Amino acid sequence: MNDVAANLQEVKGKIREAAEGSGRRAEDVRLVLVTKTVTPERIRAAITAGQRDLGENKVQEGRQKAAALADESLRWSMIGHLQTNKVKDVLGFAAEVQSLDRLSLATALDRRLQQLGRGLDVLVQVNTSGEASKFGLTPEEVPAFLRELTACSALRPKGFMTLATFTPDEAEVRRCFRLLRALRDHAQQQAPQAGQLAELSMGMSGDYPWAIEEGATIVRVGQAVFGKRALPDAHYWPGVAGTAA
Ligand SMILES: *Cc1c(COP(=O)(O)O)cnc(C)c1O
Repeated sequence: MNDVAANLQEVKGKIREAAEGSGRRAEDVRLVLVTKTVTPERIRAAITAGQRDLGENKVQEGRQKAAALADESLRWSMIGHLQTNKVKDVLGFAAEVQSLDRLSLATALDRRLQQLGRGLDVLVQVNTSGEASKFGLTPEEVPAFLRELTACSALRPKGFMTLATFTPDEAEVRRCFRLLRALRDHAQQQAPQAGQLAELSMGMSGDYPWAIEEGATIVRVGQAVFGKRALPDAHYWPGVAGTAA
């Protein structure tokens, strides 16, 4: 279990380095530790090391782990594709949904939240890579979507989330991050929620230092802390089978 704590420290060090190297503070970058495929026992090692901000890609998996770790005070984020019929389940454990990618989902979340009398932080997922396999709005769809979102009063839009192209090509990965930042900057000026859309959730184990240099305020990191996953990424991102990790 010790490796988890040591890896976590290393990741935090790199976050600090990247943040300070680009004139920001480490405290301004939030680490969401991605726990998919990881057992509650190993997650506890990270919790003991002080990590309480966790993310899951699938509702069922998130639910089970949140239940297994119910004795801890944690903040769970949903970061994976969300089916509308899972809205009730996701609201059972998640404090935030980073993968808001369509109006029907926003409407379903809002309806349930109104019944529960609570709100929810959301990030708008954008497909910055242009890959057909990726979920998320196209950059062109974002302004109209933000206007439509004003009808969902229980949702608190906080910013944007993206997955960069799966490639070792640094220039292409940074292009995705810059695009999300440009969309955010534009929305901060033009959107009805202007002023509330500061968050940029971008960067994973392979690219979070680049993401921070490009302005990420949230990074989602799993494998750099827990080690390589046994399950292929295709299990979590339909369509990526064959694009070697
Ligand atoms: C799994 C996952 C991550 C983290 O990926 P790692 O390679 O484990 O760092 C980030 N974002 C999403 C949406 C994920 O599903």
